[in-house]
Amino acid sequence: MQPMALRVFFSLLALTLFGACTAPGPDPLACDSSALATALSQSIRAKDQSGFEANFARSTVGQRLAKQWFNNLTELNDVSFAALPGGDKLKVTWSVEGSRQPSVHTIAPRMVRVGERTLIMELFDAENPPIWIYGQITVSNNKVGTLIASERVSDDQAKVWVKRMAAAVVAIQKVKMGDLNADWNQQLVVELPRDTHEYQRLVNMDPVISSAATECESGAIRIVINPASLEVPDQVGEALMLHEAVHASTSSPCLDTGALWASEGLAEWVTASQYKSTATSNQTIVETYLVRHGVPASLPVDAAFAGDKDDVAAAYALSQFAVQVAVDKLGEEEALAVVGKLSRSKDGAAPEMLSDLTSWYQAALKKLSK
Ligand SMILES: [Zn+2]
Repeated sequence: MQPMALRVFFSLLALTLFGACTAPGPDPLACDSSALATALSQSIRAKDQSGFEANFARSTVGQRLAKQWFNNLTELNDVSFAALPGGDKLKVTWSVEGSRQPSVHTIAPRMVRVGERTLIMELFDAENPPIWIYGQITVSNNKVGTLIASERVSDDQAKVWVKRMAAAVVAIQKVKMGDLNADWNQQLVVELPRDTHEYQRLVNMDPVISSAATECESGAIRIVINPASLEVPDQVGEALMLHEAVHASTSSPCLDTGALWASEGLAEWVTASQYKSTATSNQTIVETYLVRHGVPASLPVDAAFAGDKDDVAAAYALSQFAVQVAVDKLGEEEALAVVGKLSRSKDGAAPEMLSDLTSWYQAALKKLSK
């Protein structure tokens, strides 16, 4: 073979073996992820389905991905793609009505060069994937925010969770959180993924111990519900939503770098104030803890939230107890301001205040254990 033909042959061989582009450069088989990103952005903005699908390989996998993404992305707002340095990953930005900020994700499509164009063949697993890369989503906006539900969520289930969003928004509006949630738009963005595996991929948490999580996606806040909790009894579902909604309203996953007991205690205290079942079950957990371990030497440490299921439940219940004690001593407004500062930063409150909180907490637990 002539050198050029030989080169094309080996490039085609590489393509057959690896099914992907050569490294970016002058090679005729090099991928151009910038051109791909521009073509994806323009066609989705124009809602041009055939133009969008033309960016995907003609294979069954490629075309299925094209149709799924087109359907999903046309339900979202302000979608744009950009190439990332290295040429093998794309940054995708998207938004929904209830969100204060756009979400930004990095996705890793397997690309191929066909003629002048760079096409998507399939998707590698993303590090921090958006919900819409997995299956079909439905996006519904209402006055309390946006629900993004997978195709496995029925209309009736979606309605139930929207009701829970509304109840959580109303409950939070009654709490004196001051500056902590002053920027909140009074809306929630909630995702209901397809299965526990997908939940795990979205929130990076063990689905056995986590019923729901509130995520920070480059500034955008998302409450993600574990599908294992989709059919929980109503009050459990409402309490679950309210706990996460407190985190969402205070932008906790984006801003909190302080003590976990403060972030979790605040969310759990608001929930226990609204739902007697949460208050009762946390009280029982605290009493059981005291019988087994006695009065703890300190406020719950961060590591206590990562133990086994019982330890974690105790950490939440004790944190709620600590916030309740602060409210009893300082009044709601001042106590929540102090707890809020401690949730934002480990040295968010004066050392004397922290030592007061600790001794009030221990004294109240001692009284309870008598
Ligand atoms: Zn929490």
